[in-house]
Amino acid sequence: MGIQILSKTNQAGRSRSATIVTAYLMKRYRLGFSEAYHRLKSVKQDVQVNSGFEGQLCLYEAMHCEVDTSSPVYKQYRLSKITEKYPEMQQVPRELFAVDPAYSSSSEVSYRCRKCRRTVFRGSSILSHPVGGGASAFGHKKSRNLTGDVQCTSYFIEPVLWMEQALLGVMDGQLLCPKCSSKLGSFSWCGDQCSCGRWVTPAFQLHRNRVDEIRQLSMQKQDQVPTPQTPTPQTAQ
Ligand SMILES: [Zn+2]
Ligand SMILES: [Zn+2]
Repeated sequence: MGIQILSKTNQAGRSRSATIVTAYLMKRYRLGFSEAYHRLKSVKQDVQVNSGFEGQLCLYEAMHCEVDTSSPVYKQYRLSKITEKYPEMQQVPRELFAVDPAYSSSSEVSYRCRKCRRTVFRGSSILSHPVGGGASAFGHKKSRNLTGDVQCTSYFIEPVLWMEQALLGVMDGQLLCPKCSSKLGSFSWCGDQCSCGRWVTPAFQLHRNRVDEIRQLSMQKQDQVPTPQTPTPQTAQ
């Protein structure tokens, strides 16, 4: 079936068709991108997936062949695409920003400024990343605890609406609390390296020691009930 689609398309549509067929193979046969693409090429040698589509297929693989626009992987990918599209960062689509948690209610875990207690982001805004090589990535010892584990000292998050003024028109800068102006972290549209060694592009990071994690009362009540569902404390990524 896939082969028929390919033979009917012109040059311009060929990359798109190859992408669709590759995505189909990935989902249908639970293959990774390179395996699926390799199999397609073995039956139709002149197929070509351009680098843009290749990036999307790798994302598709990372999301386990489900398109979930709320997943951190998807959000990080969308942010990196925006950086390519708006190199001067004068106008960034508003939907890219998470709503300001100070002006909306939610039962989610939230994080607030340690100094003035203003809520600055929610748990769903955290864009977690696989922990990097740590000391080896820096060439010196940094951010390792006593057991030798690598630690991320910042939360990398999606941009939140209160950051908008600080983010536009510049490539990097500080992120200050919108209420008390204490320094919470920094951002860079070009990306930044986490303390664990991993590069994150673009990067919006708030230091873990400048914010407090707040869990809702309803969740704390569950602690009193002796069930195995007690939430794990202070380890949300
Ligand atoms: Zn990290
Ligand atoms: Zn503050």
